[in-house]
This record gives sequence, C-alpha cells and structure tokens, in this order.
Amino acid sequence: MQGLPEHCEIVIVGGGPVGALAALQLARAGRDVTLLEARAKDSPVRDARALALSWYSRQQLAAAGAWPDDLPSTVIDSVHVSQQGGFGRTLLQQSDLALPHLGVVVDYPALIAALAAALTTAGVRVVWQARVTEVTSLSRYARLRVEIAGQARLLTSRLVVLAEGGALAESQPGITRHVHDYQQSALLAMVTASQPHRHIAYERFSERGPFALLPHGEQLMLVWTRSHADAARLQEADGSVLLAELQQAFGERLGEFVSVGERAVFPLALRQLNNVHSGRVVMIGNAAQTMHPVAAQGFNLGLRDAVGLVQTLAGVADVGDAAVLRRYGAARRVDSHAVVGFTHSLIQLFDGHGRAARTLRGLGMNAIDVLPPLRKAFAEHLVFGVGM
Ligand SMILES: Cc1cc2nc3c(=O)[nH]c(=O)nc-3n(C[C@H](O)[C@H](O)[C@H](O)COP(=O)(O)OP(=O)(O)OC[C@H]3O[C@@H](n4cnc5c(N)ncnc54)[C@H](O)[C@@H]3O)c2cc1C
Repeated sequence: MQGLPEHCEIVIVGGGPVGALAALQLARAGRDVTLLEARAKDSPVRDARALALSWYSRQQLAAAGAWPDDLPSTVIDSVHVSQQGGFGRTLLQQSDLALPHLGVVVDYPALIAALAAALTTAGVRVVWQARVTEVTSLSRYARLRVEIAGQARLLTSRLVVLAEGGALAESQPGITRHVHDYQQSALLAMVTASQPHRHIAYERFSERGPFALLPHGEQLMLVWTRSHADAARLQEADGSVLLAELQQAFGERLGEFVSVGERAVFPLALRQLNNVHSGRVVMIGNAAQTMHPVAAQGFNLGLRDAVGLVQTLAGVADVGDAAVLRRYGAARRVDSHAVVGFTHSLIQLFDGHGRAARTLRGLGMNAIDVLPPLRKAFAEHLVFGVGM
C-alpha cells in the first residue's frame, strides 16, 4: 500500500466516531497519526442509531472541523424524565447550565460522513478496508498485523489506540472484560406525534421497559428497552401495535402518536475492561466500555476518552511509554466508572415495579427537580462527564 509507512508514531484501529475524532485531534496537535478502518471509504453505513450528544460533545466535534453547518441535526433544549404509574418528574433545561442548548441529536451515518470529510480536509492518513487482525506489544513498539484489501501487512507503531469496538482488547496481556448481559434489546423506530416536540428529549420509565423519545427533525426517535422476544415481535408487528403500546406507556403529553417508520433492534450488554491499557496499547470508546443506551452516554463518554488521550499525550516524547498510559488510565477511571455505574444503577432502580420502588423513584426525581443546585450538578455530569 502506497503512502503507508512501515513504522508509525500512533496507529488508531477503527474509524468509528471515537477513533475518527481521536485521529483528527491528534493530527491537529501535530502528531503523526495513521487511522486504519475496516470499512471501504464510500461504503454506505447502514445504522439506524440516532445519537443524542451533549453540548460539550458537539463543541468538541465542531472544534475538530467535523460539524459542518449543513449537518442534519436537532437540538435538545430540555430533558424530561418521568415514570409510568407513579408521581415524580425531573425537567433539566439548558438554562440550568447557561448553555445555548443541552445537546443535539444526529444520525450515526451522518456523523460518520462528517468525520470522514473532516479527516480528508485535515489531510489525516486514513487507510480504508484495513482490518487489523492482531496486535502485539513489544518493549519499544507494538506490532500490528493488518489485512488491506485482502493483502496481509505488518506495521509497527509507538502506540496503538484500539477504537474498533472491543474485539482485539482481550487478546492483550492482563486485560479482562466484565460483561453484564441485560437479556434485553433496544427497539429503535422513528415516530410522529400529533403535537410538536419543542426540542424536549423524553426519558420515560414505563412498566414495559424504559424508553427515550429524542427530537429528530419534526419527528422523534424512539429507543425502547424490551425483552428480546418483545423487541422481535414489535419489529415485525403492524405499526399500529407499537403505536398503541407507546401511547399507553407515554400518555398524551405529545398528543397522539400517528405513524412509525422502519424498526431496528440492538441487543444490550454492559462491557467494561479491568484496565484500559496494556503495554503500548490503549483502548478508547466502545473498545473500553459499552453500556445500556438508556442515558445516551456511550458516545459522549467515548468522546471524552479521545479528548483525555489527546490531553495526556500533549508534549510527551514517547507516546507509548507505560507511565504515560498509566496516567491516561488513572485520569479516565473516575469518569468511566461513574457513568457506567450511574447508567447501570438507573436500570436497576427503574426495574422494580412495586409501590415502594415507585415511591423511591418519585422522591428522587422530585428532589432533583426542586433543588436547583442538585439539578445543576446532575445536568453538569450528563453534559460534561465526571472529573473532567
Ligand atoms: C441503540 C443504541 C443507541 C445509542 N444511543 C446513544 C446516544 O444517544 N448517545 C450516545 O452518546 N451514545 C449512544 N450509543 C452508544 C454509541 O453508539 C457508541 O458509544 C459509539 O458508537 C461508540 O463509538 P466507537 O467509535 O467507539 O465504536 P464503533 O461505533 O463501534 O466503531 C468502531 C469502528 O471500528 C471499525 N472496526 C472494527 N473492527 C476493526 C478492525 N479489526 N480493524 C479496523 N477497523 C475495525 C468498525 O468498522 C467501526 O467503524 C447508543 C448505542 C446503541 C446500541
């Protein structure tokens, strides 16, 4: 492959949103960076996900040149949290944090396309159709085995950043993964309601499972946690069946749900590494942790991994030095564990259907709602992360 050196300073494996942003920021910081992505450059990304990004994430993407003015997106000004069959609700507003907006919703394929265009504009070395099959850490560099358009290549690099979703991490010495299978799926569908969403994102803990309704253009993206069987049933069922269940679980706050588009299903699990570095290899984004999408925190957290890595590497001579990567791991631990723990606890707390559980939840939501300092702290953690 022409233009690909045999020895690199930093190789990033995986050009998903986290790897691509890390590549952009590292290149901007003057680092020699090579991004290896298994997909072909212009292959369509078929992914039904719409990501709710915090305003902080959106600003980081804009600063990296990956938020063009014409990127289709919908701002979130408020987040409304409630439960079915119980009192209590929380309303977080952009005025709580004095930000122009709390966040923004963007389709995963649109974000990937914006990042790919920004990588080209910034002149970052990206090798498409490059699938890394093996990474071995040696004392002065790491070695990668890569298949590029069907041809095997060996590369070496001072630092390898795994941002490929996680398959390669566990082959690294000392790395284990904690997995909690929720035995549930997320059912995704675009729905239309008779009343406008007014840029409110709804988080509803219903008797049939928690769901989010995210403002998306004039419509709303539904992300509903259901049992695998229920999700499969609703994926195939007539739209009226899903709309009736949604209406019953959500109530009339948005008037009537009138239409639903294609549906997609994602199985859900929490996965977290015991350690995010091993030798000259570091893991970021989904490669380090994946979580339940209920609080819409996965990419927001992964983005902060990328930002944290760039900050840790600033001015460092040997980017794969063990002490440097230890510093990165320690700096990210609080945020990662707090967000993964918070998301998991939310699922456990809202899983109970008894009166006591409902009362406890209602009291918690009301407390956040009526105590401005608590509400501000809660909103700050959602938008900026913990310990940043
Ligand atoms: C239903 C659902 C809803 C979600 N909603 C939200 C939300 O609202 N807000 C939010 O913040 N997060 C959300 N998330 C989480 C979010 O999607 C992920 O956190 C995010 O996609 C992680 O990005 P990533 O770049 O780490 O990994 P990925 O998006 O998985 O990208 C990995 C990339 O690596 C490439 N790759 C894989 N293997 C190799 C290899 N061996 N060699 C080279 N390249 C490779 C892949 O082709 C891909 O491009 C949601 C997740 C789900 C499932």
